[in-house]
Amino acid sequence: MTATILDGNALARKLRADFKTRAETLAARGTRPGLAVLLVGEDPASQVYVRNKVNACAQAGFHSEKITYPPDVEPAIVLARIAELNADPRIHGILVQLPLPGHFDSDALLKAIAPEKDVDGFHAENVGALMQGHPRFIPCTPYGVMKFFAEAGIDLKGKEAVILGRSNIVGKPMAMLLMQASATVTICHSQTRDLACHTRRADILVAALGKARFVTADMVRPGAVVIDVGINRLPDGKLCGDVDFAAVSEVASAITPVPGGVGPMTITMLLANTLEAAEREAG
Ligand code: NDP
Repeated sequence: MTATILDGNALARKLRADFKTRAETLAARGTRPGLAVLLVGEDPASQVYVRNKVNACAQAGFHSEKITYPPDVEPAIVLARIAELNADPRIHGILVQLPLPGHFDSDALLKAIAPEKDVDGFHAENVGALMQGHPRFIPCTPYGVMKFFAEAGIDLKGKEAVILGRSNIVGKPMAMLLMQASATVTICHSQTRDLACHTRRADILVAALGKARFVTADMVRPGAVVIDVGINRLPDGKLCGDVDFAAVSEVASAITPVPGGVGPMTITMLLANTLEAAEREAG
């Protein structure tokens, strides 16, 4: 079997064209969607992510503000700026690029963002709303993964879904969304015994563990849909996912590539969340 490639770039282009139209409609009524991105420090990967987010906003016709701080900035200064952004009517979404330097309490900072502007969906209030099944914001990466299923017409009802990774930003919200779509969900992590025995049962396998080409063909049930969230840099500088793409695409029925799969969809769903926040605010 050769798997269908789930093309994140193509799906992102399609969704972003729709967002641009919706943003224009909203702007004509006096509201331009606005996103503020705060970056502390000089981590090269974070700088690239922030640049991509700001560029994506510009292309979709959104207002955006990039606010940068040196790595040794006092947390109180960043908190004060978040308070200003919470009250700024031009800003509908606020995002703090993670990870933060060690002297920051990340939880305290994320809690300082007004829940109705928390476009990453990391505020405890929004996590709770997602858990209760009426989300205000869905965290961008799992939101993007759900769009792949919808676009490809993959019915999740009754399916065995196995997730590798239990982080707050990917694994846990992914599990919640798949469960709400009536899949039967298993979450695996670093302490899971006999991981392959779980992965081989999966109709839907989501790899989000951050280990290059960890998922091999013998771990995948023939015909499974494989979503590769991982982004890993190889010694030669190239990017690869958590899945051995070449071998697994001979076994799976559908698979996301890295790059060009989940990555572009994550930024796309950040635009979606910002737009939805602006639309809500504009009534
Ligand atoms: P974290 O490091 O926060 O979590 C990794 C998870 O994987 C943990 O739950 C960990 O288990 C689990 N894990 C680690 N090793 C194993 C193993 N050998 N077997 C089973 N489980 C294991 O990572 P994130 O969730 O933040 O990110 C995961 C990957 O996704 C990374 O490569 C990241 O770069 C990428 N990513 C990609 C995005 C995109 O847009 N494409 C967005 C966000 C992340 P335990 O809890 O026991 O430690």
